[in-house]
Amino acid sequence: MIYDKNNIFAKILRGEIPCKKIYENDFVLSFYDINPQKKVHALVIPKGEYIDLDDFILNAKEKEITEFFKSISHVAKLLNVSNKEGGYRVLSNIGKNGGQEVPHLHFHIFGGENVGKMISN
Ligand code: AMP
Repeated sequence: MIYDKNNIFAKILRGEIPCKKIYENDFVLSFYDINPQKKVHALVIPKGEYIDLDDFILNAKEKEITEFFKSISHVAKLLNVSNKEGGYRVLSNIGKNGGQEVPHLHFHIFGGENVGKMISN
């Protein structure tokens, strides 16, 4: 699979589309989901061009991977949903069966309330 440079998150990273930024460093950007499913619904994306978790783990540098996962926990703290503050759910959709809509790796952070059962249809 080839990375689509015109996906919406690539456009956000290039500053072509605005986002409600929560956190940024050299490796990641975090912003609020445009269509929140829970009281708190944030996204964390790597700045590198990775389609999904499989692509990321295969092709990213160790530093990018470490910084990415550290950032998820950091953003949860910034949003006051860390385990001490009630907890949260992290979720990443991968591919067709995973329901992935945007082909740039992203982890969702859901919290601010009881986010319910893991999977519902
Ligand atoms: P997924 O189904 O896991 O690929 O999730 C894609 C997510 O991106 C959805 O929750 C959308 O609401 C969200 N989304 C799409 N466009 C934007 C945007 N411009 N800004 C913020 N979130 C977006």
